[in-house]
Amino acid sequence: MHSETLAIHAGHAIDPHTGAVMMPLVLSTTFARNEDNQLISQFAYSRSDNPNRKALEERLAALENAQVAIAFSSGLAAAMAILHSLAPGDHLIISPNTYFGVRLQLENLYQRWGLQYTLADLTNLEQIKAAVQPNTRLIWVETPSNPLCKITDIEQVAALAHSIGAICVCDNTWAPLIQKPLDLGADLVMYSTTKYIGGHSDLLGGVVIARTSNEFVERISLFQKIGGAVPSPFECWLALRSLATLPQRMQAHCHHAMLIAEFFSNHPAVEKVHYPGLPSHPEHALAKRQMSAFGGMLSIELKGGKPAALQTLARLKLFTRATSLGGVESLVEHRATVEGTYANFSDALLRISVGLENPLDLIEDFAQALEGLA
Ligand SMILES: *Cc1c(COP(=O)(O)O)cnc(C)c1O
Repeated sequence: MHSETLAIHAGHAIDPHTGAVMMPLVLSTTFARNEDNQLISQFAYSRSDNPNRKALEERLAALENAQVAIAFSSGLAAAMAILHSLAPGDHLIISPNTYFGVRLQLENLYQRWGLQYTLADLTNLEQIKAAVQPNTRLIWVETPSNPLCKITDIEQVAALAHSIGAICVCDNTWAPLIQKPLDLGADLVMYSTTKYIGGHSDLLGGVVIARTSNEFVERISLFQKIGGAVPSPFECWLALRSLATLPQRMQAHCHHAMLIAEFFSNHPAVEKVHYPGLPSHPEHALAKRQMSAFGGMLSIELKGGKPAALQTLARLKLFTRATSLGGVESLVEHRATVEGTYANFSDALLRISVGLENPLDLIEDFAQALEGLA
């Protein structure tokens, strides 16, 4: 079946007790046994599994044409479960353009724990090859990258990982449905479901998805069940509800972002536009090959540097000045403020999460904010 159908039907059944069309929210932490001391259902205790989480996992797996989805309480909890499934002494390769929270984990938690890593530009195969060590077990890909929208060739990196006996993980948070990392050879795909999958800026969550189980995937599953960083039934319920409209929302996010990117690329106050859908983007051809649309995230650099960026921010009326992405409302942020010393990009940069408002209104808002800045 197609994504639009799976997004509504996978993991879903009419409630047999009440006939409820939408799945009931099950808040019970514990599940009863019968007179023979047998569990009445497949559930025993809510941390191990519960109906709302199970439904969400089934739907997320189906959308990735996979058998295994393991839901966590946040994207970073999902990332941590993957990193923890390596062993002390293992080495991984990761881009300096990776979401800075993952870099914070490596630096502040896993270095002490004995995990080694090398930062390499994953848009450059020679740099990745040069970073390989005898103990390299994992290559961590995030594409499009944050906030510069750099594109990594998933197929190429996954092939390289496999040739050295390592696995390839793809953080697909920015590109659900429009990019299928498992089809391109990645072993694991992970999401912060807080972003597009939740889609309304009102839930935190994460997930790791694998086509089939194996020893490594089993360990990640153990980190969910006995590590305990699990999402609440209500957050699973919200995410399941949100998934139903993900295909249409992604389509609109991508369409609006393309229009806004085109507006920026013709604006005299804008020095650079980072959006993989523009032919001027250095990896546009690759993005066209491995994505079915170019996403709802873009960033711009202002000709007038940081002062112009901050002035533009201050003048925007419709865009909310806030971090995060993937919600129905458009957001804008001065990313260098958020990342501090981790920022490895210009302080003239504004990162934009394009929402579902009418794109003409969004363009008009930027037009008035940029006025006179050229
Ligand atoms: C937000 C984000 C994360 C972290 O997810 P949380 O749900 O905030 O823990 C990881 N990767 C990317 C690309 C993100 O945008």
